[in-house]
Amino acid sequence: MSDRRGPVLAVRDQVARGERTAEAVTREALAAVTRCEPALHAFTAVATEAALSQAAAIDRRRAAGEPLGPLAGVPIAVKDNLCTRGIPTTAASAILRGFVPPYDATAVARLVAADAIIVGKTNCDEFAMGSSTENSALGPTANPWAVTRTPGGSSGGSAAAVAARAVPASLGSDTGGSIRQPAAFCGVVGLKPTYGRVSRYGLLAFASSLDQIGPFAITADDAAAVLAAIEGADTFDATSVDAPPSTPAETGVRGLRIGVPRAFIAGVDAAVSTAFDGALAAWRELGATIVDVDLPHGSLAIPVYYLIATAEASSNLARYDGVRYGFRAGAAAPESLRGMYERTRDEGFGPEVKRRIMLGTYVLSAGYYDAYYLKAQQVRAKLRDAYAGVLAQVDVIATPTTPTAAFPLGEKASDPLQMYLADIFTVSANLVGVPAISLPCGFSPDGLPIGCQLTGRMWEEATLVRAGAAYQSATDWHLQAPSLA
Ligand code: GLN
Repeated sequence: MSDRRGPVLAVRDQVARGERTAEAVTREALAAVTRCEPALHAFTAVATEAALSQAAAIDRRRAAGEPLGPLAGVPIAVKDNLCTRGIPTTAASAILRGFVPPYDATAVARLVAADAIIVGKTNCDEFAMGSSTENSALGPTANPWAVTRTPGGSSGGSAAAVAARAVPASLGSDTGGSIRQPAAFCGVVGLKPTYGRVSRYGLLAFASSLDQIGPFAITADDAAAVLAAIEGADTFDATSVDAPPSTPAETGVRGLRIGVPRAFIAGVDAAVSTAFDGALAAWRELGATIVDVDLPHGSLAIPVYYLIATAEASSNLARYDGVRYGFRAGAAAPESLRGMYERTRDEGFGPEVKRRIMLGTYVLSAGYYDAYYLKAQQVRAKLRDAYAGVLAQVDVIATPTTPTAAFPLGEKASDPLQMYLADIFTVSANLVGVPAISLPCGFSPDGLPIGCQLTGRMWEEATLVRAGAAYQSATDWHLQAPSLA
């Protein structure tokens, strides 16, 4: 069979062998970004100079016979809620307009240490709050498969950039599905690691008990290669740990037990259901066993998520006050400090962020804390137990990533509840802490990609990657690219 390595591993090998220079690869990626941007608006910043000088340094080191890192010469785009030294970082919010971080997020620093090339920052929902990238203060991103559709969110720019083949891989963040849902909508692989595998240092915090950073790529193996470069304990994030490797030591799925919670996934779109059943059939063919499982409390995951995530957001976003960094509202006349805070936050935050700060403040306030926040934490514990129970019977749980393919831009923009309901299959992994991957598994009749999600046990990303790689060796959904690419 032809070379089925994904572009991350292919580029890495070509640069290591001297078949292509890092500079040539980087110029090609920058040209692809320029070509796609007018249609997609996937980027908030393109780091042309920095990327080219990083590439030239790698080429010089190779010429001098020095060892290169495991991602040498691989262009990578980074979601704009990750701090990048010297490159503007706004989380797509007006309140961070003009903020240029003096430091790199640990995940970014580790990519640089692995000799990957940071080509730019990608668009997202403001502070990663949303499912469509429409909440960006810089305007929405389009889906490369149909520019009238959303790429999903909140990491929509990262997903669109990989789907359009502008970059071989990107980083996103996933608090309730923001890697997996856009991966599904854009027909690429998205991997949310176990909570704690990747340091959150330098990630602009949304909900600290749920946030994780992870990769987008074309293949599961490429995603694993990026994850391998960024994972592991970091003294700057006390929740980060050294976990068993995320890259599988074995191949194939013979004997793997895949649990399917049929009642929970009933009611998804017909095309999603057909594609999902096709994926299960492929795994069965490859030697896996498909088992029906019962996943209790699944329907409570959305309300629990939107209580806990907003509570944490209301606290995390208190730091944006116009004093220390970013935007400060100008005053027509001298005013009080409090007045400056209020006007800065009023003008700096968009409507969805304000909605969440208000909801979160409410559920934490005296008299409501027990009824909402505490209750949500209790249900979260039940959900954790339910997952532990199911994952003792099976190795992974399979569901569609989303109930529908990508919806039209504007369709849910004015209806937050409808937008929240689209997260039904993704929020649980964050609440429980377990890893989950979205793999392209087919198309809707109108040519939109569909994703299948596998959720695994704590620290068992390697099992998800192995199941993904086996699936991709038997199917070619992931090799199909939008005409825009
Ligand atoms: N769509 C979810 C939300 O709006 C998840 C976002 C995320 O994972 N960052 O909160």
